[in-house]
Amino acid sequence: MSRDDPYHDRKVYHFARQWRADGAVSALCYKRPRPINLRIALWTITVKAVTCPRCLKMIRERDMTIDDLILRILAQHGPCTPEELAERMPVGYRGVVGTQMSLECLELDGKVERVGEGRWQVPAAKGQVGDG
Ligand SMILES: [Zn+2]
Repeated sequence: MSRDDPYHDRKVYHFARQWRADGAVSALCYKRPRPINLRIALWTITVKAVTCPRCLKMIRERDMTIDDLILRILAQHGPCTPEELAERMPVGYRGVVGTQMSLECLELDGKVERVGEGRWQVPAAKGQVGDG
């Protein structure tokens, strides 16, 4: 396929998602669980070793940390309260954001700054420049 694989014998590494008792492993990118064909592909649980583009995409999109999601929402929408953030989070994350714990951790990291009472935003330096 690629120049660094001249003999076309390099196997793609999927991210392993499910294991069966007999040792069969299914990949994250499979819509329905089925054993990976080990003659043409391999699996790993180390994200850095994954080479399957579909698995990588899903890891990026689905395994984003709550902090990453908060940063993304703040960058898109500007200053938000935890309640506003919670509304904009994907369903599975909504309960977690309400605790404000994640926001306060981010604030300590300097990735988010508090603006006004109970509102946070991503520091301007990292995104928009001025308002010209
Ligand atoms: Zn895959």
